[in-house]
Amino acid sequence: MAERAGKVYLVGAGPGAPDLITLRAERTLRRAEVVIHDSLVSPELLLLAPQAAELIYAGKRAGAPGNIDQAELNRLMIEHARAGRRVVRLKGGDPFIFGRGGEEAEALSAAGVEFEVVPGVTSAIAAPAFAGIPLTHRRAGSFVAFLTAHLDGLKRADGGGAPLDELAAAARKGGTLVLLMARARLRETLARLTAAGLAAETPAAIVQWASVAAHRALIATLATLADEAERANVGAPAVVVVGETAAMGKRLGWFERMPLFGRRIVVTRARSAASAFANGLRAMGAEVIEFPTIETVAPDSYAEIDAALARLDSFDWVIFTSATGVERFVDRMRERGVDVRAMAGAKLAAIGPATAARLAARALTVAAQPLEYRAEAILDAIGGARLGGARILIPRAQVAREVLPAMLREAGAREVIVAPVYKTVAPARAPVERVRALAAAGAIDLVAFTSSSTVTNFCAMVGEASRGLPAAVIGPITAASAREAGLKVVVEAPSYTVPALIEAMRDYLARSAG
Ligand code: SAH
Repeated sequence: MAERAGKVYLVGAGPGAPDLITLRAERTLRRAEVVIHDSLVSPELLLLAPQAAELIYAGKRAGAPGNIDQAELNRLMIEHARAGRRVVRLKGGDPFIFGRGGEEAEALSAAGVEFEVVPGVTSAIAAPAFAGIPLTHRRAGSFVAFLTAHLDGLKRADGGGAPLDELAAAARKGGTLVLLMARARLRETLARLTAAGLAAETPAAIVQWASVAAHRALIATLATLADEAERANVGAPAVVVVGETAAMGKRLGWFERMPLFGRRIVVTRARSAASAFANGLRAMGAEVIEFPTIETVAPDSYAEIDAALARLDSFDWVIFTSATGVERFVDRMRERGVDVRAMAGAKLAAIGPATAARLAARALTVAAQPLEYRAEAILDAIGGARLGGARILIPRAQVAREVLPAMLREAGAREVIVAPVYKTVAPARAPVERVRALAAAGAIDLVAFTSSSTVTNFCAMVGEASRGLPAAVIGPITAASAREAGLKVVVEAPSYTVPALIEAMRDYLARSAG
């Protein structure tokens, strides 16, 4: 194979909410071999990178541990690219708005390394947008300037000092100023703008942690904003907006009015599971942290399932207990060259609607669909006492509860074969540290679980910090597992569907104080 030339992608990660990255950024991340990321990047975005990709944390929080300096970072990018790798340099917001993306591009260019820039949604635009502040408006703002609040860092083209007078004049004449890195020296910055000629009553707003649960926006004036921010304990990262448009956020603020605004919900899921659940919660304004707890891999041995596939025509029932079970079972049939018609004499049972849907999608008719994963319900659905003499195959996860096979045997089944078609393991990459820190701060409103194994794995991964966390679960078995694991079950969805769980979570959060 010809040696491939490496390349560096300077990719914007957006302001915080993980679904505010661009499609191109997502596609680039999915193909990354090395990802070098900053502290302001949502950890969930890193889940998009392939398992095999190397993740390198570059820090960038002032004084924080684990920071690597800019020269070292440039060296790393160049080295990996020269080794032929696809390197994603993932930066908060847009890579070319502050944060030194331009310097990184210069270093790559000087080293002769090919690079590409994938623009992102900058916090300079997103923070005002989430606060309901239009940066331009026909009546109030006809141009915008983005600046660092470290005003001494502002330089004129001729190398002179900060052009504060001109900026103040611009803001007076209908411009909007957007200041980044604005929290640390807020009082000083606002005072200097006033001294440069802006009226004390000029509208000014500060927006912290835009687009996530910690989002907070204050709208005041140049004279009052610093005091208000102090009183409300507004922290970094924050953007400040100065100019007439800033006042419009009072009327147009929309984010904080969403039903689940300010709520932080951890959604445990299998790595490959669809994010429909997470997106349903986001659509109501919640911050969702997707926490993969399960990864599906091959079972230790295919011996049982292969033996069963070889005599598939001898079974009266095949019972599927999960959608993954359906998928892996059919995959294995294909791998072994077994024709689906060998199953013609067997009736199929599917536990839960997702499992049934997966069978239906493969043109396999479901004869029995017990609504819940309880042995009694399953027994009922497949004919209860009339089971006498039946041969039953259960293709499923390697480690699963043993109640069902025992119960079927008791009910008179002649043979119950439990055949592992997959195994679930804890994923290597999950936002464990983040969840621990949030749990310690009491900053998690709910953790959602859809199965006992997500409970077990989540608690094992998070450890002590998971104790007492408020849990939302589907069904009594998951509820029991959650209680046993030391979680506090506060939501128990009445029916076995995701919409029902979302509904129940929403009701609970509406009842509990925000
Ligand atoms: N390239 C980034 C900016 C990096 S400088 C971008 O385009 O957004 C870091 C500054 O960005 C912070 O000091 C803060 O002013 C701003 N910032 C980043 N994320 C933010 C957020 N979610 N809410 C408010 N400000 C944010």
